[in-house]
Amino acid sequence: MDLTKETSVAFGAVRDAMNYCLHVQQSLITSSLAKDDRSPVTIADFGAQAIICRAIQKAFPNDSILAEEHATQVMRDGEMGRQLVAAIHAGYDPVTAPDLETICSWIDAGRGDSAARQWIVDPVDGTKGFLRREQYAIALALRIDGQIKVGVLGCPNLPAHNGQIGCTFYATARGGAVEMPLGGEPRSLRVSRDAELVLAESVESGHTDHDRHAAIAARLKITRPSIRMDSQAKYAIVARGDASAYLRLPNPKTPDYRENVWDHAAGYLIITEAGGRVTDAAGKDLDFSQGPKLINNRGIVATNGHCHTAVLEAVARASCP
Ligand code: AMP
Ligand code: MG
Repeated sequence: MDLTKETSVAFGAVRDAMNYCLHVQQSLITSSLAKDDRSPVTIADFGAQAIICRAIQKAFPNDSILAEEHATQVMRDGEMGRQLVAAIHAGYDPVTAPDLETICSWIDAGRGDSAARQWIVDPVDGTKGFLRREQYAIALALRIDGQIKVGVLGCPNLPAHNGQIGCTFYATARGGAVEMPLGGEPRSLRVSRDAELVLAESVESGHTDHDRHAAIAARLKITRPSIRMDSQAKYAIVARGDASAYLRLPNPKTPDYRENVWDHAAGYLIITEAGGRVTDAAGKDLDFSQGPKLINNRGIVATNGHCHTAVLEAVARASCP
């Protein structure tokens, strides 16, 4: 399957969305709204989704798009709508200067039905990191017949291999994974075989189980502190060897939570194509064939591959003290 066009359209869409998000962050418009589940959402989320959905629709009009945000939330809030229009004009399209209705139609292009070819979009993954001016990611993936075939992660605040701030990671199934700095040359991604393990985990304690992670680290005799980072940037740092494993064990307070596909699809492919391995906490492969959620999986263990068995063993033991 030749996915050259898909990969290059996805890369371009994520780059445009990254530049837009950088503009929003520089212009200090980072007021947020609370969604129905009380998580924050900003004009960065809505604008980035609009930009990505528009690019996909233009290039692949027959494909379905599944994206995290809905335009109703912007339409409910007049001030946010005005800010969104101004930011899209200044940070993305000053020439055609689309109106709010047009931008909302792009956002809602992301409410597609399930289909054999479906794009999966998290416009700002790690919104809390974006608001803290730390790490966040723009995540885009293509699922074909239930399998992830293209993944792109834009990390505007993550230092690239050449020391510059901002990089994009992309992968195509069986085509390898690449890191592309915002300014500079690409390089192939390869996991590392670490003598000393380092874990990566969420900043937000509500999204995971930091205590159990600490117990797992102790079993693995890890002495270096875990890298806490928001968003799928955690997958990227394992894929390029800054960390050995990304752990995301379920938070005991939300036992029924199921992971959203848009929080994992792009990162999953990037680690896999860099030579690493991703399973759930029980060692099962991730099942991306079940719509918007990973309903058949609990927790995530994403590693450089070399330490996967050892990490899974520690996970199993740390769950029954
Ligand atoms: P992170 O930045 O890795 O902490 O992950 C951010 C993502 O966590 C958000 O995009 C949410 O979709 C997701 N999330 C929200 N609540 C939970 C939860 N209880 N368990 C796991 N993930 C969650
Ligand atoms: Mg997210």
